[in-house]
Amino acid sequence: LLLVVEGAEGVGKTTQVARLADRLVALGIRAERYREPGGTPLGDEIRRLLLEPAAHGVSPRAEALLFMAARAQLVAQLEARLREGTIVLLDRFFLSTYAYQIAGRGLDEMLVRDANQLAVGGLTPDLTLLLTVDPGVAQARMHARGGLDRMEREDAAFHARVSAAFLAAADGSWQAAHPEAGPVQQIDAGGSVDEVAARIDAALKSRWPE
Ligand code: C5P
Ligand code: MG
Repeated sequence: LLLVVEGAEGVGKTTQVARLADRLVALGIRAERYREPGGTPLGDEIRRLLLEPAAHGVSPRAEALLFMAARAQLVAQLEARLREGTIVLLDRFFLSTYAYQIAGRGLDEMLVRDANQLAVGGLTPDLTLLLTVDPGVAQARMHARGGLDRMEREDAAFHARVSAAFLAAADGSWQAAHPEAGPVQQIDAGGSVDEVAARIDAALKSRWPE
């Protein structure tokens, strides 16, 4: 089972993925968490390259392909995990590509989606939890965490395009037009960590009652 957690900067993806992994493991369920870009030695190197302030002046297309290379390596590694029945929790996946490379950078949607297909080889999430929160709250959480990476330092217009793209993905017609994303369920990420975790539990229980 592939469970993806998505959303803009500062919505609390990483915190919630860690909490969910701990809850599943406590229930005796085999679960592992990964993040994009990263999750493999090659992916972690690509992550380091892409998130450093200068990133060798990476162009938008080179950037997109590097994210895809990291993804392809991670997917190759996850295939065995998924086959053996491990629940894989993934911090970012295709929705981030849609939000950052397509909406944020303005790259051609069809070309980027084709590159994504090359990277994922048909692997589709069983569910994506899309965390959304008021952009002011997200900005405050991001700055409280500190150490902003290259993308987080982009201007407000870039982040507005990214947020709008994530919100668009909550819509059923967007999901029908983007089958590679799989089902997407929006989760209100406002309030405390415990409140958001409870909303995620409720969403998972309604989808997988057992
Ligand atoms: O820790 P975090 O998930 O925020 O780090 C990943 C960074 O990579 C984010 O700043 C995000 O903007 C960027 N990213 C991206 N395109 C993707 C995935 C991540 O720009 N497809
Ligand atoms: Mg970030």
